[in-house]
Order: sequence, then structure tokens, then C-alpha cells
Amino acid sequence: MTNLDPASLVVHAGRPAREPDAPLTEPVTFAATYVAGGPLAYGRFGNPTWSALQDVLGELEGGRALAFASGMGATSAVLDLVPLGGRVVVPQHGYSGLLALLDQQAATGRVAVERVDIADTAAVADAVRDAAMLWAESPTNPALEVADLTSICTAAREAGAIVAVDNTFATPLLQRPLTLGADLVVHSATKFLSGHSDVVLGAVVTGGDSSGTTLYDELAARRRNLGAVPGPMEAWLALRGIRTLALRLDRAQHNALLLAQRLAEHPRVGRVRYPGLPDDPGHVLASRQMAGYGAVLAVEVAGDGADADRVCERVRLWVHATSLGGIESMLERRRRWPSESPTIPETLLRLSVGIEHVEDLWTDLDQALAAP
Ligand SMILES: *Cc1c(COP(=O)(O)O)cnc(C)c1O
Repeated sequence: MTNLDPASLVVHAGRPAREPDAPLTEPVTFAATYVAGGPLAYGRFGNPTWSALQDVLGELEGGRALAFASGMGATSAVLDLVPLGGRVVVPQHGYSGLLALLDQQAATGRVAVERVDIADTAAVADAVRDAAMLWAESPTNPALEVADLTSICTAAREAGAIVAVDNTFATPLLQRPLTLGADLVVHSATKFLSGHSDVVLGAVVTGGDSSGTTLYDELAARRRNLGAVPGPMEAWLALRGIRTLALRLDRAQHNALLLAQRLAEHPRVGRVRYPGLPDDPGHVLASRQMAGYGAVLAVEVAGDGADADRVCERVRLWVHATSLGGIESMLERRRRWPSESPTIPETLLRLSVGIEHVEDLWTDLDQALAAP
């Protein structure tokens, strides 16, 4: 089905074969084990509901997918590919959970970590020399910085490093890192892929490498042995969510651009980062490597952290919550988390724009931003 537009693939990939009386949708298979003699064998090794989800993600990204219990479960399996003491280059403003995990691993000497400005291509190319892995994220969470994926993937591969790209913010509908030179793509399927704030799930998608033990096999062994396997119900919910990904993204991106434009003019707002704004530092690059700009904004509220907190307390339609990518618009001040990078401004709110009517979203934000 690879000749289909991604908007059709999200609807039709990963379906049971069309036979008389076959269900249209892969059922949830609750199974701890299987009758001996087949390839599945045991519930931690495989599951038909995982397979359906993996088929969709694999087709969308152009590789082979493995579903994990969470984005961090997928991340842990990928980081486990780094040899003992190997150096990992990561975005200084990357996902805080990744940075926290790497700090923990660096403290024991498991890995060495180098944080870089992922939008500074020359700095990344410099840092990846002798690195075991480049971990890229674009746009970054929560700073919305855009990396030149083609250039940094090339530099890292020339240096012999494995290149992982966290594609959570873009989803495969807006960006396909395997086609830009990444070895593997990581997802928190908790976010846009599932889309309804009701499931925690992750995935890794590997590209087509030919010789010896493939990355896919290495990661499948880690899922099996480290045990971060998804529940069948969660896999089914993610599959159900993906069916409307194209529709949800269309609406959310439309809302996000309008809100970004208005927020940039708002007297109580300082800087707005959204790659869809023509004067955003990431706009030109994002226009080249993405099919859309996504639905997450970084907004610096005028004043201090307390002023930004007040916005979160005052919203009524927007939900004050961590996470993103749901149909419900959400916001939070990222520095409320001790694990967030200290170079993220105290006043920065991350806005995950949902699919509500944009005027309702604006009215609520505008009243929450009003001077105290
Ligand atoms: C949420 C998130 C993760 C972690 O995923 P979980 O499903 O919460 O484990 C990883 N990367 C990014 C960019 C995220 O937003």
C-alpha cells in the first residue's frame, strides 16, 4: 500500500485481510501465551494487535516498527545499543525524560553525554566525531527548535554514529526521518499518534539495513529481554487513534498557526516559537523537511514564572496538564519540572493545540493572559 497518500494509509494500513466475514479492524488479542509451534510463542515476544499497529507505523515511516510500553521504553531500548562508556550527543533542549535518563546513566559511567544546540549544524557535526550515537529531536520539546536533519544525519553517519530521531512532535505525516538519513525513529505514541490522552505507548521504527544482525533484530531482542512490552489494549487504542491522525493534525495545525500569529502580537506575550511563523528561526528549514509545522507552540509570557503560572491557573477551556498531542488543548509551564533544562526560560509555556474551535481557544487564552 506504499503508493497511497499517508492520509489514506492511516485509515487503511494494518487491517486484517479482506475475506468474507473478516472483521475490518484487528481485534484486541489478550494472550499471555500461545499454543506451541508458531512464531509468536509467548505474550512478551509478540501479539497480533501489536503487529497491526506496527504495520501502520512501519508503512508511514518507511521502515519496520516495534511497539513499546511507552516512549521512554522505546528510548531505553535504543540507548541500550550504545556500547559501555560510549558518547551520546543529545539536544540541550530535548525531551526532559531523555535528558534525565542520560544523566542517570552518565553518573554510573554507562554512557557519556554531550548536550548540543541541535539547531547549530556545525556544532552538532563537531560533537558527533567519535560519538556512538546522535539523538536528534526536531522540532524539540519544549523549545520548538528545528534541526537540519539531512546535514546532521550525514555528519553522524560519516562519523560512524547511530542516528536516532525522536519524531514525536512531527509524526510521520509531517516528517519522515528515515528518508532524511536517520537509522531509526523513536515515537512517544502517547502523544499525537494516539491523540486522545488515554494511552501511554511508544515505538521504534528502523530503516532497511541489509547485512548481519539488523538494528530491528537488536531492538526486538531488547524489547523481549528488557520487557517494555505494550499491553494489547493500549496497542489497539493507539491503532484506533491513528485512523484519524490526518484529520486531527489538519485541524490542530490550522488552529496552531492562527494562535501563534495572534499570540505574537499579544501585549502580555514575549517570544513565540512556532516553525510555521514566517519569521521563526526554524521556518525555512521546517518548510524544506516537513509537510506541516505541527501543533505545539512555545510561548514566553511577559513577566516572571509566577505570571506564567497564573495563566495556567486561569484557563478554563485549555487544560493545565503535562503531555501533548491530544484532541484537548493543553498547556503547562515547563520549568515547573526540576528535570527541565535550566536554559529553558522560567516563563515558557508549552501549548499543545487541540481540535476545538479556534475562537474558543483564543478567547480563553486571551482572558487568562490579561494583566492581574
Ligand atoms: C512524551 C515524550 C517522550 C516520552 O514518551 P512517553 O510515552 O511519555 O514515555 C519522548 N519524547 C518526546 C518528544 C515526548 O514528548
